[in-house]
Amino acid sequence: MKAVHKNHYCNLPMIKSRNFEVGMNPIRMEAIIMMEKKWVAGTVLKYYFFKDNSFFSTVTDSTGNQRNNLWKGTNTEEVAVKNGFKKWKSLGIGLEFEETSNILESHIRIGFAKGEGAWSYVGRDSWGIPKEQRTMNFGWDIINDQDTILHEIGHALGLPHEHQNPNAGIIWNEEAVYNELAGAPNFWSRDKTFHNIIRKINPDIVQGSSWDPNSIMHYPFGNGMIMSPSQYQNGLFPEDGLSERDITWVKQFYPKIDKRTFLDIKPFHSEVISLANGEQANFVFIPEETRTYTIQTFGFMDTVMVLSEVVDGENEYISGDDDSGEDRNSHINLKLLKNKKYIINLKLYYKTSAGNTCIMVW
Ligand SMILES: [Zn+2]
Repeated sequence: MKAVHKNHYCNLPMIKSRNFEVGMNPIRMEAIIMMEKKWVAGTVLKYYFFKDNSFFSTVTDSTGNQRNNLWKGTNTEEVAVKNGFKKWKSLGIGLEFEETSNILESHIRIGFAKGEGAWSYVGRDSWGIPKEQRTMNFGWDIINDQDTILHEIGHALGLPHEHQNPNAGIIWNEEAVYNELAGAPNFWSRDKTFHNIIRKINPDIVQGSSWDPNSIMHYPFGNGMIMSPSQYQNGLFPEDGLSERDITWVKQFYPKIDKRTFLDIKPFHSEVISLANGEQANFVFIPEETRTYTIQTFGFMDTVMVLSEVVDGENEYISGDDDSGEDRNSHINLKLLKNKKYIINLKLYYKTSAGNTCIMVW
């Protein structure tokens, strides 16, 4: 069963959605909302497991005593999660997953604190979380619960909850849902239940216009929680594992990128950007001298730009900038070293048809 083990449900950390300028073109806004949490294809997502006893939450038990709830897991738990990353990778997506022992370079920090729920930040939200904090937790035994692992990694890739898809047209028996979640083993507040179940998410975040009740990102629901569609009044139980649409979705957002298509970029030579919304261009830059360089886009477009250095054949993240929804251009200003190889990934959220757009290094 999906994302649930003995009726345990995943609960997402609450993150405020961004505010847009009044009067912004709705197509631009939709493009930003759909892509702002997704990683740039080609990113090596580094995950970290807490290994020592210095990372814990302080919990108060029923008798009022405080104790340390350690975040570290067992070797078997770590292996189960690594296998979850392998499963997503095996679909042929344009992201890499790599365990790191350096917490400072990690994107995803995974705890196994029991009793603290299963949750993850969604996509790039985890990048803004302080490095000593978790971005994902498995709060119950997940050794034989691969679907919970795939579900939480799905969030880390930027997937929201499918049962909150407004296109599903689910009408809840809201009090039944609040009551169910208020009881054992979840003990959720009404706010938490609203945030994770009742609330409809923005239609621009969900994939396409259809609803996928078999998605790995869909919870199961027992008898009496769904009023409509009527065939689910007795319960909705998604099939195990990743659905066809989960696979299509993740490959669409993270296409494999072919290094042979990378363009060389030279200082003071602008490269025209002719991408469709959602597409990505990739450049190689090898400085002929060591100095401070500026990399910047020109023209009216929303982009996210990532600069990496190729070290032992792998892209090491150096810097990034995201100008989406702002009246400025993506811009990186950094000292780069002679004869080192740098990769610039530029992903387009949105561009109007008016005017030329390009990227330049100088
Ligand atoms: Zn979830």
